Amino acid sequence: MKILGVGRNYVEHIQELDNEMPDEPLIFMKPDTALLRGRDFYIPDYSSNLHYEVELVLRISKEGKNIRPEFARRYFDKIGIGIDFTARDLQQKAIEKGCPWTLAKGFDHSAPVSQMKPVSRFANLNDINFSLTLNGQEKQRGNSGLMIYKFDYLIHYISRFVTLKTGDLIFTGTPKGVGPVKPGDQLKAFIEDEALLEIDIK
Ligand code: MG
Repeated sequence: MKILGVGRNYVEHIQELDNEMPDEPLIFMKPDTALLRGRDFYIPDYSSNLHYEVELVLRISKEGKNIRPEFARRYFDKIGIGIDFTARDLQQKAIEKGCPWTLAKGFDHSAPVSQMKPVSRFANLNDINFSLTLNGQEKQRGNSGLMIYKFDYLIHYISRFVTLKTGDLIFTGTPKGVGPVKPGDQLKAFIEDEALLEIDIK
């Protein structure tokens, strides 16, 4: 399986990092070794500015290429919540040099993902609230309706370039409020009021 990520998909997050508005989706990939299957996240020694980014995550349920937006719903069956851990210092260096984000985004365990909930449990996919707390204090709050590029368009866009396969995951972008973690911190990610993911920073 592969993990695709979407950068700069919420206006207020673009503003907080002083980035440019995209004129098409900004897509990056994380390898399957980025998945974190436990609750302990160890800050790697090559970063001194490791950021959390809470995001809704789609699970692809059917192989597809060149998927039209109106058929995109047939290609994902579950939604969960994940953290797109980002070595912001490495990413900043890459941006300045015009280099890829691969290592800043794709390092081992940079992609914890919660249990996934069936799409049928959501009344309106354009109105899903999600949030993240750090040591019990809310840091990020988003709603899928605020995405610049919505689920269906992302699947359409990505599948023009990359065949999507069953089990692939798409991180759909983070709202404002990203920030650094340090050893001893605890992150908790929610969809609506349900805590679905807990991570202990080591
Ligand atoms: Mg992200």
